[in-house]
Amino acid sequence: AEKLLEVSHLKTYFYTTKGIVRAVDDVSFELNKGEVLGIAGESGCGKSTTAYSLIRLVPPPGRIVSGEIIFEGENLLKLSEDEFRKKIRWKKISMIFQGAMNALNPVFTVGDQIAEVLMLHKGLTKKEAMEEVYKLLEMVGINRRRARSYPHELSGGMKQRVMIAMALALQPPLVIADEPTTALDVVVQAQIMNLLKKLQREQKMSIILITHDLSLIAEIADKVAIMYAGKIVEYGKAEHIYYNPQHPYTQGLLKSIPRIRGEISKLEWIPGTPPDLLTPPPGCRFAPRCKYVMDICRKEEPPMVEVEPGHYVSCWLYAKKSEG
Ligand code: SF4
Ligand code: MG
Repeated sequence: AEKLLEVSHLKTYFYTTKGIVRAVDDVSFELNKGEVLGIAGESGCGKSTTAYSLIRLVPPPGRIVSGEIIFEGENLLKLSEDEFRKKIRWKKISMIFQGAMNALNPVFTVGDQIAEVLMLHKGLTKKEAMEEVYKLLEMVGINRRRARSYPHELSGGMKQRVMIAMALALQPPLVIADEPTTALDVVVQAQIMNLLKKLQREQKMSIILITHDLSLIAEIADKVAIMYAGKIVEYGKAEHIYYNPQHPYTQGLLKSIPRIRGEISKLEWIPGTPPDLLTPPPGCRFAPRCKYVMDICRKEEPPMVEVEPGHYVSCWLYAKKSEG
């Protein structure tokens, strides 16, 4: 498989008046062409900040501190903002933002808003752009006549489809979807996920799907990264994560959602809350909530250990074995 993206040792911090919030703290992962990576974790774990880092839209007072983002062989962090905007953002990497439905401009028709992207980045005339808009709308299951609608005339699900059409307008090899279905009801959620799945197969694009809902990821992801308090604690193929989770946090997360197939298990929540990223605990950041915690966990950060080919876990339970 051909490598599309390689993120290594990415750190994105927020420089607040209270101190430095280490929102993304030494995160590494990679993605092949056509693959879907799910990034899961509770809110505030750094998954959205990871996404914003990839498209270089980290809001102030946040900034990328160090690391590499190699995309199609090029380090995106070495590009100037101007180069990034011209070459990469939307053309190569696009994003469906969280709560995106409300990001549509209320005073323009949805057709005009999609056309704008095409005119700006592809240099199309308005007429050429509108032809593409019709195709894009049909691709996401919306009648072309809706191009003349204003956002308030559309349902939440339809607005989200419009945002997907916009993200796909320039056929980028990588689309990042941040909680793309969160504000929608369950039936519409399923429709949107099926649409993303279908488009991903047809267009052979790669997707990074960011969500707090592991069951959504199960349906579409080839690989899964579990984030906790700014770090990836477990990473592997989807089947590793679902059928052989090794990190105590992943195990707890999986128990807290109804299983995909089979009977719905009792919802088991992990007691406690994630640490404040201004002052994360030394050692393993999950230690205050972990039922397997050992002395070393509170002192030293656990290394990433490959527990089976392609399956990585950051936990002293596994690292111990290779000691001495
Ligand atoms: Fe629990 Fe220790 Fe593993 Fe952290 S390193 S998850 S505290 S066992
Ligand atoms: Mg978020």
